[in-house]
Order: sequence, then C-alpha cells, then structure tokens
Amino acid sequence: MHSNQKLPASIGINLLKAYISFIKTVPPPFSPQGPQNMKSALEAAEQYFVEAASVLDLSSSMRKLLMTPEREIKVQVPIKRDNGEIATFVGYRMQHNSARGPMKGGLRYHHEVNADEVLALASLMTWKTAVVDIPYGGAKGGISVNIKEMSIDELERLTRRFVDELHDLFGPDKDIPAPDMGTNSQTMAWIMNQYQKFHGFSPACVTGKPVELYGAEGREEATGRGVGTLTLATLRKTKRPIESATIAIQGFGNVGSFTAAYFEKAGGRVVAISDVSGGVFNRMGLDVTAALEWVKGKGSLAEFQGGEHISNEELLLLDVDVLIPAALGGVLTENNAHDVRAKMIIEAANGPITPEADAIFRKREILVLPDILANAGGVTVSYFEWVQNQQYFRWDLRRVREELENTLTRAFDRVWATAEEKKVSLRTAAYLLAIGRVGRAEILGGI
Ligand code: NAD
Repeated sequence: MHSNQKLPASIGINLLKAYISFIKTVPPPFSPQGPQNMKSALEAAEQYFVEAASVLDLSSSMRKLLMTPEREIKVQVPIKRDNGEIATFVGYRMQHNSARGPMKGGLRYHHEVNADEVLALASLMTWKTAVVDIPYGGAKGGISVNIKEMSIDELERLTRRFVDELHDLFGPDKDIPAPDMGTNSQTMAWIMNQYQKFHGFSPACVTGKPVELYGAEGREEATGRGVGTLTLATLRKTKRPIESATIAIQGFGNVGSFTAAYFEKAGGRVVAISDVSGGVFNRMGLDVTAALEWVKGKGSLAEFQGGEHISNEELLLLDVDVLIPAALGGVLTENNAHDVRAKMIIEAANGPITPEADAIFRKREILVLPDILANAGGVTVSYFEWVQNQQYFRWDLRRVREELENTLTRAFDRVWATAEEKKVSLRTAAYLLAIGRVGRAEILGGI
C-alpha cells in the first residue's frame, strides 16, 4: 500500500491494536527461560531424549541422527535505525528435523537469544509436533535484539531484512515460522508480505497471522485452551471431579489467563493466580473474569482485591490439586521441589521443571504432564491455520475448538496408555512416542 493512501477505519484500528499488543509483548527483564540458564535448557532437552532413547533401546547411530540438527543458520541482520545510523543484529534459524514434514517453530525477539537456546527449543518442537501427531518437524528462530529499544518501523525493517536473508529456506513445505516471545501477529504479517515479494502469494508460509490476513480463529486462546482440556483429561484419569479441584496458576499472560478462564467456565476453582507483580490467593476461589478485567485496565494483578496477596514462590508451594506454571522456565528446582504440595503439575510454560526437580516429583509420585504435550495447543492451531491457508478455506471457531480437543485428547490417551504399559512417567512416555514416530519416519524415508 502506498504510504499516503488512507487505511479503511477497521484496518486502521487493527493496526493500532497490533501496535499496542507489540508494546505489551515487550519481554520482562528476565532470562527467556527464567532462573534456569540456556545451557541447562539444552542439557535438559538432551537428558529427556537420552532417557527415552534408553527405554526404546535406540542404537547409537539413530540417536546421533535424531539429535543432530539438519541445519543451523546464523545470519547478520543489518538495518538503518530511524536516526540514519546502521545497526547490526544477529539472527538464527535452527532447523532440527524434517523427517515427518515441514519444520515448524516460533521466532523469538529477545536480547538474550543465543544459538544454544534456539537449538534446544528447535528440538523440543520436533518432539512436540510428533507427540500430537501433526505432520511437521521442528525448528526455531530468533534475533538477539532488545525490542524495547526499537521503534515499530525499525522492527518492521529488521523482520523484512531477516526474511531477505532466509526466504529460500522458509516456505509452506519447508519451514514455517510462528510468533514467540517478542513477536506477534503483526510480525507474522510482515514475514508473509516480504516472503511473497520473492515467491508470490503464499499465506501458508507463516502462521499466527492476524485473523484479517489469513490467520485462524482461536489461535490466541489455543495454548491456554489446550492446557485446560488436558488438565481436565488428567483429572478424569485420576478420578478427581473438576468441581472439587483446586487450581493455582503462575503467570497471567496469554497462556495463564486463557487457562484460568477455561477452568472458570468448566466449573473448576482457581484459588491462586500470579504475574510478575506477585500473586493473589483465595481458598474459596477467585473471580477470574474480574481479574481479567482488572489486568486489562491496570496492566497487572498488583492491588487486585480478590484475595490475599502472596509471592510467586508461595504460589508454587500451595496445597492444591493442580499447579500450573505458565510463566517462566526453571521455576521448580531441587531447592523447592520437596516443598511442593500440589497433587499434579501441568507444564504450561516451556521447561518450568528442572530435570532434578522432575526426579524428585517422580519419587514423591506427584503427577507431571510434560510441556511437549501440555502446551501443544498453540502449534496444533497453527497447523489448522496452515491447513486452511493451503485449502483457501476458513473454519469457524467451533470447528477449530472441536479439532483441537480431538487432536489433544487423542495424543493424551496415547501418552497415558504408553506410560501405563511401559511403567514410565508421562514425560518419558511422551518422548517415547515422539522419538518412535520421528525414528520410524527416518527409517521409512531412508537417507
Ligand atoms: P506472556 O508474556 O503472555 O505472559 C507471561 C506471564 O508471566 C505474564 O503474566 C507475566 O507477568 C508473568 N511473569 C513474568 N515474569 C514472572 C515472574 N518472574 N514470576 C511470575 N510470573 C512472571 O507469555 P505466554 O505466551 O503466556 O507464555 C508463557 C509460557 O508459556 C512461556 O514459557 C512460553 O514459552 C510458553 N508457551 C507459550 C505458548 C503460546 O502460545 N503463547 C505456547 C507454548 C508455550
């Protein structure tokens, strides 16, 4: 569009909303994976892989094939700043595995993005897409940039330049980026637009786009809704009725807030929520709708009057049926795992439990639903967006929700049955299924 052309009113409002949500996605001042450092994120991913590979009795050659990324890309991304100076950033795209389909994974803008972190997250995407059995491999990308120091125009130039460097490696049948920390639907719209300058009309080259621009209904709520669906499935299996279950959720952003809203609708009792400002606790149950309204107006849960104020650390140790860490990685460690009183933990965030804490929970028989399954709702609805784009056909929200529930419930049942059959944790069972599927695809496809 020509710069002096007027935008239709509705598009203008949406652009404004996109800009505001950009400001909201400015990452808080913590390491992307929280207290756990990046090296241990990679180590944790490898440790879970090795544990499952041992149960599967995987040969060392197959282990090497599955652990070695297909392609590691590091590019220079120079842009002209608004003041005319040149600034040079470093961007990454790690393509871990494509045995089961085009590679799928988010693009993260954060000043601590580095090769190890992106690689760990890329391998997690391979297992995540395999465990829910959608026809994708795994990838992840990022640019090491502090977006708080960037104008919207600079972010646009940065994104377009990154696509200029990588467009030949992206594509609906090769590698499909999506939003992650520091990026949003506006970023995805720029990626699609820039990609199309080289390759022609191709909405399926990226997911998480605005709904007005080939995005999918229900993408925003998908991860939280998936967490809710899978928590209910876990409660059913352990014969705990949702009506009497107490739930604590750390993090009240995209994932935490949609998860809380889901439980409120399902008749569950959310007794604690928190964000970076701290937590609120009410044994009788919090008014989630009121909390959502409060955060919409005030920007955080600080001073929300629904209950007693507690710290994030206290929230993790509450005596509840379900604990849902939905903010940072590495919050449950060997230092606090012995004091956790929840009966089950649903890993809505990526890697909230360190491997040491995971071992303690196994010993204490606290059930853990692993991240590669628990938060797979987002990538599942990204897949639905890609399917719709490929078919030039739009599903309504009812269909998206129905397909999401089917996909996740099917995956959950398989993981549960595998855990029972092999007498392993749900995490190992999820990795067994995922590694088995990717390994079989490698063998059937051949080298
Ligand atoms: P978000 O930025 O929307 O929300 C993060 C929340 O965590 C906010 O409420 C923030 O205040 C809170 N928070 C920040 N620092 C905190 C601290 N020190 N203690 C307690 N709370 C703190 O992020 P999100 O999209 O909801 O993602 C949350 C987690 O879920 C991340 O680990 C992310 O990788 C993972 N995840 C997200 C998606 C998705 O679709 N959004 C998909 C898969 C996994």
